Amino acid sequence: MKIIMLGAPGAGKGTYAKQITQKYGIPAISTGDIFRENIKAGTELGKKAKGYMDAGNLVPDELVCDLVVDRLKQDDCKKGYILDGFPRTIPQAEALTEALKKQDDGIDFALEINMADEAIIERMAGRRVCKGCGATYHIVNIPPKKEGICDECGGEIVLRDDDAPETVKKRLEVYHEQTAPLIEYYDKLGLLNVIDGSKGLEACMADIYAVLESK
Ligand code: AMP
Repeated sequence: MKIIMLGAPGAGKGTYAKQITQKYGIPAISTGDIFRENIKAGTELGKKAKGYMDAGNLVPDELVCDLVVDRLKQDDCKKGYILDGFPRTIPQAEALTEALKKQDDGIDFALEINMADEAIIERMAGRRVCKGCGATYHIVNIPPKKEGICDECGGEIVLRDDDAPETVKKRLEVYHEQTAPLIEYYDKLGLLNVIDGSKGLEACMADIYAVLESK
């Protein structure tokens, strides 16, 4: 089962991807997480990506595509995967389609988590992330058991640098300009499924499972 999660930053793609991982045992691959790990480790890739990320812009396609295509060749992807945050531009989607076609392969589902910008801005203001392991929380919807402390690793929970309100606005602009056209791209391929992200975690997951079980 090969799944792409589409939707604006903050729509909950990562949270839904994690649940799908638990149910189907396929890895969730988040390009944002890969970049953040590289920044933390001080790699060349991390150094190149940081400036773009902090400004709310996309990292250039040439730094992203090969990285994902290589990751998909790893053994844990044999049964399938969920791509969270990739592709984010039409050239990235085309590169993915081509790379998979070469192996006689293709994506099974593109899930668009649909949410209004105002709801996203509100949600992002409450989003928090663990500095240690990257686990995500929300001060109202998914609070940690102990305020400010990660349930999973005991690390400190903070606001992500690029979740600052001005950066969120910029990221939404970038989303509408560069990433939203992917909705039509996957619709034309007959792979698009729209999920109403305003329904809340449980109802959204029920809708997602209904889609995934339909094939
Ligand atoms: P995310 O955690 O998915 O919201 O990603 C955080 C940031 O990483 C984005 O705002 C981009 O700067 C960068 N990023 C993640 N995935 C991609 C991608 N597929 N293409 C370009 N930039 C990306």
